[in-house]
Amino acid sequence: MQYEFCCDLIQEAKLHKILEEVVHVEQIINDQSLAAFGGKGRKMTVQVRNEEIHSGHLILINTGYPVRQKEGSEPLAPLSLHPEIREWHDGIQLEKTCFRQLTALLEASGGMDEIVVVSGYRTEEEQRSIYEQSLVDNGAAYTASYVALPNHSEHQTGLAVDVGKMRRDVDFIAPSFPDSGECRAFKELAADYGFIQRYKEGKRPITGIACEPWHFRYVGCPHARLIDQYDFCLEEYIDFLKAYKHDGPYLTTGYGCAAAEIYFVPADNGAVTNVPIVNGEAYRLSGNNVDGFIVTAFHEKG
Ligand SMILES: [Zn+2]
Repeated sequence: MQYEFCCDLIQEAKLHKILEEVVHVEQIINDQSLAAFGGKGRKMTVQVRNEEIHSGHLILINTGYPVRQKEGSEPLAPLSLHPEIREWHDGIQLEKTCFRQLTALLEASGGMDEIVVVSGYRTEEEQRSIYEQSLVDNGAAYTASYVALPNHSEHQTGLAVDVGKMRRDVDFIAPSFPDSGECRAFKELAADYGFIQRYKEGKRPITGIACEPWHFRYVGCPHARLIDQYDFCLEEYIDFLKAYKHDGPYLTTGYGCAAAEIYFVPADNGAVTNVPIVNGEAYRLSGNNVDGFIVTAFHEKG
């Protein structure tokens, strides 16, 4: 069973109701399920294999940090599970939580009819052929601006989705996603559902990719809101979190009746890392694909 800690759920259903559902869930670290804390007042450590730094919703993928997940290890869902979603071509898939949150975001923004999903999960082979075709069609400079090298594309994780305004001729590499209507509503609500616009104006010196209003990346809550709030790109956020260690102070944030504490645990030398979990009611773990793990611990405010 998978469970995602969603800001809206926190507000509406209250934290303890969510925990009722997750408290019996087995601790599954590597698929980012929300795991229940082992009882109030107990200190706890989980042992995580170091190869898990390459998986999770917060992994950083760019020129310097390639995709290291094994192909086929991502839990994927086909968009056709939700027939109302418009797909630019058949067979688009996304990582399961990303898919569920995208569906909720499309519904909340009223964009189900107006927004088309142009691209989702890609294999390394698909990324390679898109890259090579773009070199032929668009040239080297354009391709370097908008298409990630094979093995350096977030699309290979299933956590990235390209969306466009519905029209007859959608540009596959750079779909139009205007700052108006349903597209604007989608953009404004994206962080509430765990999505960030991954490549923003002004961040190219850090990300290596030009502004892409159509490319959204799922990172989960509350991280998407924090990234927006600080006007970070993912590279900056991953770096920023390294200042917050298990012995505190944590990066703290709260919504509705729930609060979250976020901190970084560097990977130990060797095969495993003992990740200390701060006292709380539930937590989630993600690798950063660089050098360690990010813990997000949830508890009731009060
Ligand atoms: Zn994209």
